[in-house]
Amino acid sequence: MTNVLVTGGAGYIGSHACKALAAAGFTPVTFDNLVTGWRDAVKFGPFVEGNLLNRDQIDAAFAQYQPVAVMHFAALSQVGDSMTQPGLYWRNNVEGSLNLIEAAAEAGCLNFVFSSTCATYGDQDNVVLDENSAQHPINAYGASKRAIEDILRDFDVAHGMQSVIFRYFNVAGADPEGEVGEFHRPETHLIPLMLDAIDGKRDALTVFGTDYDTPDGTCIRDYVHVCDLVDAHVLGLQWLLDGKGGRVFNLGTGSGFSVREVITHSREVTNRAVPIIEGNRRPGDCTKLVSGSSRAVAELGWNPKRSTLSEMISDAWRWHQTGHYDT
Ligand code: UDP
Repeated sequence: MTNVLVTGGAGYIGSHACKALAAAGFTPVTFDNLVTGWRDAVKFGPFVEGNLLNRDQIDAAFAQYQPVAVMHFAALSQVGDSMTQPGLYWRNNVEGSLNLIEAAAEAGCLNFVFSSTCATYGDQDNVVLDENSAQHPINAYGASKRAIEDILRDFDVAHGMQSVIFRYFNVAGADPEGEVGEFHRPETHLIPLMLDAIDGKRDALTVFGTDYDTPDGTCIRDYVHVCDLVDAHVLGLQWLLDGKGGRVFNLGTGSGFSVREVITHSREVTNRAVPIIEGNRRPGDCTKLVSGSSRAVAELGWNPKRSTLSEMISDAWRWHQTGHYDT
């Protein structure tokens, strides 16, 4: 079997990626410290409990499993936290990734799929965000991911590390078969928080800012279904294994929805009221992040199938009602 080392394989996106990799005939080897991930989410291949800040643990995983490639999801990813704890974000995300990239290069594993973010672009009013757009992150999370992209480029020059870098827009939804789903403690993301408010697990959803320069005053994001997103990762892995070389791809649908529009869709999908409170802006939030590129469609042959807002909310709602991990 062909092993792929999946850091963060016990997390939301990583666990869906492991399922997609296994379906494509790879063996996903999860490397995760279980700080934000769940042991129960590791269902599709071996598990290594390890920390990216511990180089010996990374080296041991490469020695034991001899992966042909790395898929690197493990990261702290809360925009708000990154503004109050930048040191934590830089150490965990950048130092941890540097350890991983160095270990991969030394082990001769030169295929690297990296989970980056549209937060590397920052706030750019009226600019179409394609892969050539300037990167001016406005929060430490985005800055940490941009730094890792730079490290990967330097390792390409020095060591021939080939990387496919995916800049995600907003990932939502869950495995329609209910094997894995989104489960964060604490939860900070819009759709799961809204579903909590809908079924009474929290009093209300706070809308972070209603005075943005958008048609309804709330932030606009481009939502993409997690299953479509991980399909792109398998295509990106194949791209590398076919020797096509380093490339950056945005992963978004090109359609933007405001927070209020997501609330309206959630009401329609669940047929329940959404209790909301209108609150202040959250520091670090960009006004609008919408992907302006179809490079992944044109070059990778990516074919997103489930990324309508209603389908994402409906899959998330099913998981919300039936799925859980033991905590
Ligand atoms: N948001 C909100 N209330 C919440 C959580 C999020 O209004 O409790 C907004 C947030 O300001 C942003 C959008 O929903 O405009 C998506 O936020 P999320 O945290 O899900 O993802 P991010 O865009 O930060 O990656």
